Amino acid sequence: MKHSIPTALSIAGTDPTGGAGIQADLKTFQEREVFGMSVITSVVAQNTLGVKSVEHLPIPFISDQLNCVMSDIVPDVIKTGMIATSEMMELIAKVIKNHSIPYVIDPVMVAKSGDHLMDANAKQTLVDKLIRLAAIVTPNIPEAEVLLQTKINSVEDSENAARQIVTELGAKAAVVKGGHFSEVPIDVLYDGNSLHEFSSIRYATKHTHGTGCTYSAVIAAELAKGHSIQESVSIAKKFITDAIQFSLQLGKGNGPTNHWG
Ligand code: PLP
Repeated sequence: MKHSIPTALSIAGTDPTGGAGIQADLKTFQEREVFGMSVITSVVAQNTLGVKSVEHLPIPFISDQLNCVMSDIVPDVIKTGMIATSEMMELIAKVIKNHSIPYVIDPVMVAKSGDHLMDANAKQTLVDKLIRLAAIVTPNIPEAEVLLQTKINSVEDSENAARQIVTELGAKAAVVKGGHFSEVPIDVLYDGNSLHEFSSIRYATKHTHGTGCTYSAVIAAELAKGHSIQESVSIAKKFITDAIQFSLQLGKGNGPTNHWG
């Protein structure tokens, strides 16, 4: 019997302790009942305390992985996480341009541990080659500040940033996450037509490793099922709030978010 199920491809780096990166994406896809696939860009030796070292896979090998997936099981959605170099971004842009598949960008730059996951000079390539292809970009406040070279201190600033990522950088939608606000974490979505705000309770915990990956993976999974951008962000906000409330006390550092939401 042939089964049909929505499919999602994550293109990202790894976390051997299972809290962030590809591992978080695949667990989240499974939880959202979407068939998850993965193309690995960089293998990261990291744990809940931080990053020890990073090995970037060779471009021809990343290309082979992409070809294997795209020539066999064309995904309903593509999500990117850690893409460390301009060369990787150019390769991924070429593949995405050849397909009309909704594309979710989590513009991963620096881990909460302070370790850099993207080359400093790759930011321009992210803006020039990838963001304009995106169905939605999901920056946190520091990432939005880097993308737009601006400061975000208020919800109004987040609204302007979300709008600018669409009108100036060319994405179809952007959600600026509010987790870095000191009080209520208000996420601001601009979907190309209007602004939408999603707020939640702030739970005091240091166990939030992988929250950004998990949030964008939920959005990708819900888009794969055919939900709208607004519905997908709303589901992701609820999922991540529960995931933080019930975050896991694993490891010696910042424990992982709960991928069961
Ligand atoms: N490691 C990888 C491979 C990631 O893709 C990400 C995603 O943002 C992180 C680490 C970030 O982890 P943290 O949530 O601790 O900032």
